[in-house]
Amino acid sequence: MEGVQQRLQAVRDRIETAAQAVGRDPAQITLIAVSKTFPVDAIRAAAAAGQRDFGESYVQEADAKIDATSDLSLIWHHIGPIQSNKTRSIAERCHWVHAVDRAKIAERLSMQRPAGLAPLQICLQVNVSGETTKSGVDPADVLALAAAVTDLPHLRLRGLMAIPAPTDDVAAQRRQFGVLRACLERLNAVGHGLDTLSMGMSDDLESAIAEGATMVRVGRAIFGTRDRPRAERVARE
Ligand SMILES: *Cc1c(COP(=O)(O)O)cnc(C)c1O
Repeated sequence: MEGVQQRLQAVRDRIETAAQAVGRDPAQITLIAVSKTFPVDAIRAAAAAGQRDFGESYVQEADAKIDATSDLSLIWHHIGPIQSNKTRSIAERCHWVHAVDRAKIAERLSMQRPAGLAPLQICLQVNVSGETTKSGVDPADVLALAAAVTDLPHLRLRGLMAIPAPTDDVAAQRRQFGVLRACLERLNAVGHGLDTLSMGMSDDLESAIAEGATMVRVGRAIFGTRDRPRAERVARE
C-alpha cells in the first residue's frame, strides 16, 4: 500500500500546481479519494497519510467500508447514482451526497436523515454534456430543483456536481466545467449561498480547478487501475 501514499502525494501536488496556475489557494480545494472497488487496506493507507474525505458509489460496499473504518472518523461522500430504495443507509451514514438529480430522492434523504445528526450536505448533479443518456438534471431545471431541496429540513444544499463526457480535449473539458460554474453563479444570483463545485476526476482535475472546482473526486490516480469486472458486479448489487 506504499504506492497509495506516493500517488496520493502526487495528486496533492497536481492540485497545488493547478490552483497556483490560476491564482487560487489550493486550501480551497478538497480532495475526495474515490475508494469504490478498492479494499479497506487502501483506505487505511490513504488515511494514514492524512486523507479524510472518501467517496463511494455503491451502498452495500460503502456500508462495509464505513463499518471497517469506524475507528478513523472519516468523512464519507456518496457520489454514485441513487436508487430510491437505497436512500436510508445513505441518509444515516454519509456526510455528503453528490448526485441528487430529482426531488423525490431529496425528499427521501431528508425524511430518513436522523434528527440527531447534522443536516446531510447535498450537491445537485447537473448534466453538462447534453448527452441524453447521462444522469443529472438539465441546466434549465436546476433552479426549480434547488428551490425544492432548500425547503427540506434535514438537508443542506451546498452546490453542484457534474461528470462531463470524457475527452482529452482541454478546451472541451473546460467548456463543460464552465457550464456547471455558470449554473452555480445563476443560483447564487437569486439568493442561494452555494459554495461547492464538485467536479474533476483523475484525468481532468486541472481543467476543473481552472473553472473553479472546490471538490475534486479522484480514484484511479490515487488507488491504481480499477478492476472493472468487479466494479460492474458491485454496480448490480
Ligand atoms: C469513479 C468516480 C470518480 C473517480 O473517477 P477516477 O477516474 O477513478 O478518478 C469520480 N466521480 C464519480 C461520480 C465516480 O463514479
